[in-house]
Amino acid sequence: MKKRILLVEDEPNLSNSLSLILAEENYEVLALATGRPAIEKFQEYDLLVLDLMLPDIDGVDVVKAIRDKSPQFPIIIISSRSSEDDLVQGLSAGADDYMTKPFSIKELLLRIRRMLVRQKFYLEEDDTKKNSKDWPRISCFQFPSGLRIDFANFRAHTLQGEIALTTQEAYVLHHLVEYENQVVARQDLLAKIWGHNLSVETRTIDNFVVRFRKYFENNTQKPKHFITKRGVGYLFKSKS
Ligand code: CA
Repeated sequence: MKKRILLVEDEPNLSNSLSLILAEENYEVLALATGRPAIEKFQEYDLLVLDLMLPDIDGVDVVKAIRDKSPQFPIIIISSRSSEDDLVQGLSAGADDYMTKPFSIKELLLRIRRMLVRQKFYLEEDDTKKNSKDWPRISCFQFPSGLRIDFANFRAHTLQGEIALTTQEAYVLHHLVEYENQVVARQDLLAKIWGHNLSVETRTIDNFVVRFRKYFENNTQKPKHFITKRGVGYLFKSKS
């Protein structure tokens, strides 16, 4: 069955050429020039390619609205906004990937393919893990600030209020909390959470940590809980 891609891009030239190329790659494509209809329609599709600067709504708000309904739906942002802030905003709103315009179409196709494979794996994995008796080993974790992670229900009280965690977010957080005060290597996290057989990049872990800092750190520039160990991975501390 053809995979269905929702494309939201208000620049007609880019939208047309992307639609053509995606169709040639055997995807079924719906191209929209505005963001709001995407929030209504996304569940009929397998993946969303989303521009941020849209005539009707900020793309980041589209991501947030979709994440409220579906923590797992694959979203790739394509944007000419390339500052660190936009990247962090997009990813912390819940996008899975971010490409800065102009980008290579080949690279976009590669990422789409990879994300669809990952998605399939997630869905299968979710069922087994969510129903497994040993999840979660830690049912709830509370920071000294009062912010909380409820692993059993995949929810968290964050600086942005109460949110639904994606399954992967919950797994990565759980692993870090379980190994508190120990350096966790990116490679170990990838192997434990995604298995060895997937081409998930170590950058994926960094993107997760960017989100976690947004959720739980008062000063994301000077993290006290999610500490980077350069060249190795991350160290989680519950107390500063
Ligand atoms: Ca635009």
